[in-house]
Amino acid sequence: MPSGKNQKNPDASPLLSSVNFLKGIPMSRILHRKLGETPPVAVKGDGIYLQDSQGKTYIDASGGAAVSSLGHGHPDVIAAMHAQIDRCAYAHTAFFTTEAAEDLAERLLAHAPAGIGGVCLVAGGAEAMEAALKLARQYFVEAGEHRRTLFIARRQSWHGNTPGALADMPRVSPCYEYRYRVEGQGTEQYTAMLLDELEAAILQAGPERVIGFCAEPVAGAAGGAIPPTPGYFHGVRTLCDKYGILFIADEVMCGMGRTGTMFAIEQDAVAPDLIAVGKGLGAGYQPIGAVLVNGAVLERLQRGDGAFLHRHTYTSHPVAAAAALAVLQVIERDDLLAQVKKRGATLRRMLGDVFGGHPHVGDIRGRGLFMALELVRDRAGREPFAPELKLHAAIRAQAMRRGLMVYPMGGSIDGRRGDHVLLAPPFIVSAAQLSEIVARLEEAVNAAVREIS
Ligand code: PLP
Repeated sequence: MPSGKNQKNPDASPLLSSVNFLKGIPMSRILHRKLGETPPVAVKGDGIYLQDSQGKTYIDASGGAAVSSLGHGHPDVIAAMHAQIDRCAYAHTAFFTTEAAEDLAERLLAHAPAGIGGVCLVAGGAEAMEAALKLARQYFVEAGEHRRTLFIARRQSWHGNTPGALADMPRVSPCYEYRYRVEGQGTEQYTAMLLDELEAAILQAGPERVIGFCAEPVAGAAGGAIPPTPGYFHGVRTLCDKYGILFIADEVMCGMGRTGTMFAIEQDAVAPDLIAVGKGLGAGYQPIGAVLVNGAVLERLQRGDGAFLHRHTYTSHPVAAAAALAVLQVIERDDLLAQVKKRGATLRRMLGDVFGGHPHVGDIRGRGLFMALELVRDRAGREPFAPELKLHAAIRAQAMRRGLMVYPMGGSIDGRRGDHVLLAPPFIVSAAQLSEIVARLEEAVNAAVREIS
């Protein structure tokens, strides 16, 4: 922890310095969170547990943000990283490839849905999405279709914090049955309505101007583990084919085994043109993301520029690749996809037992070990709590107080209203640990509701 004093320039930041010692706690100089806010200092990770500098232990029931799929301190991943660091910590991708990067690409391809033929390795989820967007644009530029500049995405989706992923683009409704399927409407009818809306958006933009449709197969942070309705992604694929646009699956959060299959979209039996992954790919051991690319897209690049015109300094980083390769090998060796399905079913049952009749839990949803609760003020009317009450923040604080990390968010319904709690425990979690997670979560939810009421 920094002392808070800048040796060269002690007066550099009077505001920070004054906040810094108000409570006698050294304040973080790291600027991506509220000034003056210093979270606990993590000093140790072991399995599903993290420990802070005060000796308090937390169950990591969200894998951070659906990242730590193997838990913390996994010896095989750490050994693979050490071995790679000893051999070669870095070799710029413009000059060299490495065995780790090549092997990782092969292993990813072995698991990928039909048609995927190439992999681009980057340093995180948003980088993967940016690379996917650029690659999709290049795909059309290679064919002289320069007018194609638009991506259509869905509301209640999150694709990253970078300008491309945040760009103001046409949006359609999420596939969010609990909130938006109206009474009397069947699931099939609801799905058809969403697909009609997507088609209308493509036509309104002008199909000749659209590059692709981006969607999370199971919507993660913004909506709370919202699975699609049956046939939804099949319909999306059909529309993309009809209008010659690309389907880009953002599996940064839901991919890499989190839902019980390596890629979440497998369960919808649909093959995207591009798939972005991150988070669980490196499982937190290294920052890494990847874009998986369909063979037809690659072929056009091959006939055109002959390369995807994109690179970062840390593209194909050898230690990141070695970590991700080890993560994949552990998932395969320990049959962890089967484990995710089994423990996922257990978690769903436990959540149902505890929250199925809870007056403030309206929906329990998700796939595999990617589950969420949606909180409501009134169960029958599905009325959310007022956004100003920030129920999600209260749940997070109450859970942390009880040594439980979960991932609550607000704005699930429309970006402003609605609260949900996302659970994404490590794949190695035991049934007894799941039971402890659900018990602590029940206490935290009840305490948070009391606190804001
Ligand atoms: N896509 C999805 C679906 C995500 O959930 C996230 C992060 O939460 C991203 C992209 C961006 O990933 P990163 O935060 O690693 O840049």
